[in-house]
Amino acid sequence: MPKHIFVTGGVVSSLGKGLTASSLGRLLKMRGLRVTMQKLDPYINVDPGTMNPYEHGEVFVTDDGGETDLDLGHYERFIDENLTQSSNATTGSIYQSVLAAERRGDYLGKTVQVIPHITDEIKRRIHRISTDDVDVVITEVGGTVGDIEILPFLEAIRQFRKDAGRDNVCYIHVTLVPFIGPAGEQKTKPTQHSVTELRSRGIQPDIIVCRSEQPLSTELKRKISGLCDVDERAVVNAADVGNIYELPLILHDEGLDDVALDLLDISGPEPDTTAWESLVATVEAARTPVRIGLIGKYVQLPDAYLSVVESLKHAGFHHGADVEIDWIQAEDVDGLLAVDRLAQLDGLVIPGGFGARGFEGKIAAAGYARTEKLPCLGLCLGLHAMTVEFARNVAGLADANSTEFEPTTRHPVIDLMHDQREVTDKGGTMRLGAYYAVLEPETKVARAYDEPVVSERHRHRFEFNPAYQTRLTEAGLVCSGVSPDRRLVEFIEIAEHPFWVATQAHPEFKSRPDRPHPLFRDLIGAALARRAALAPFTAHAER
Ligand code: GLN
Repeated sequence: MPKHIFVTGGVVSSLGKGLTASSLGRLLKMRGLRVTMQKLDPYINVDPGTMNPYEHGEVFVTDDGGETDLDLGHYERFIDENLTQSSNATTGSIYQSVLAAERRGDYLGKTVQVIPHITDEIKRRIHRISTDDVDVVITEVGGTVGDIEILPFLEAIRQFRKDAGRDNVCYIHVTLVPFIGPAGEQKTKPTQHSVTELRSRGIQPDIIVCRSEQPLSTELKRKISGLCDVDERAVVNAADVGNIYELPLILHDEGLDDVALDLLDISGPEPDTTAWESLVATVEAARTPVRIGLIGKYVQLPDAYLSVVESLKHAGFHHGADVEIDWIQAEDVDGLLAVDRLAQLDGLVIPGGFGARGFEGKIAAAGYARTEKLPCLGLCLGLHAMTVEFARNVAGLADANSTEFEPTTRHPVIDLMHDQREVTDKGGTMRLGAYYAVLEPETKVARAYDEPVVSERHRHRFEFNPAYQTRLTEAGLVCSGVSPDRRLVEFIEIAEHPFWVATQAHPEFKSRPDRPHPLFRDLIGAALARRAALAPFTAHAER
């Protein structure tokens, strides 16, 4: 039976619980343990797929088509395992299962209650991923201890230890130790209160991970240990780091994995940190500046594009480049073209999105990139914008559009997928999850992947309209990847351009820090080449 680690958070939200849990997962993997991870989210949406990115940040898509919390992206990037939709459960999905069971008559004659029915369903979700092929399951509970909606989850994980046995479960509580300026001191009181709150729910943490701006002193750790009744070596400090990929090494130096394994009675070798250390060294050595514009709708909230940003960084690590992102509001593109802001860029990403706002700006940016030979990668809605741009300005279909934004357009080069026309339910009605594509040899896309058949994750309703494929290819568009039945266009590019490539999929979900996604890698490669080629002129102009 696998061992279980539960991670809760206190004091404030956004403490980086997900990163802490992911880093621990990586450390356990470095010790040869088989690890899987899960997020329990206390909100009522059945999944985050129906939420606005401003509410929730990016929706992370799994191979099996789960629309999940963005923390699953951290989990996958750190533990380097592909997770499934079972790795994310929300209050909404738990109630949905319990209510369906109630209607089926599974509880006939009984009053259905939070305890035991909801808590049993939460435990069932945890057991569901506790398969024989894993040694340790790390479960992160979303939200903050003290929230009303978190209570059933705390009760379920409390019961879990009793069911599974003391040595099989460990509780980690992540808190904040703030620095209070006027007093000139780091304060432990919020941590004490948070632990008191957790205890009032019957959970005594075994390990406390303290987030802080500056490192904690030994005395302060001793104080927290005494006040919270946690072993001194189990008070672990996660002081702010320059880059998130340093975190596993810092937590290892703090002894987090040692303490956790002792508590779970697992013996094993020290972790082999060499590969991760060389990753961190690569990250630190990545200095060559490269400036990538990200043209989006939610640019005030970078979390909305978390995996895209991480993928750009991974690609930068590979090339020794420090990717600077210029966040560009899509509606502003026309004005920015006028003031030459796009001229400062070395490359461009047009990411996925929903809704008409900003679509014309994305088309304008795609056109600028095409004519100025600026490397440009389009993702999902980005492919739609680039197809419309090409149709209008190269293929001569002046009023081409996507029917998502102009249902009666004369040239619907992007259209609703056929099996989507009748759907009225907004949840999970998209083409979701991993699909194969067959690549056209000798194209930029095929050269990037260096594989004839690739699998990428999807999340969309609209797509390239095959009725226009001949017209657009005759005008010079290359369909560099199609579905195995050849009915759907999955990748497009143009030949006489350093890199003007788009995909219907979301490759950003599969990039890893030490294995950048080939399309992002080649975008950054092309951006660096352009920068190097233009440098003499810029230097000259500056002189
Ligand atoms: N809104 C578009 C569609 O539904 C694109 C979706 C996306 O970019 N993920 O097809």
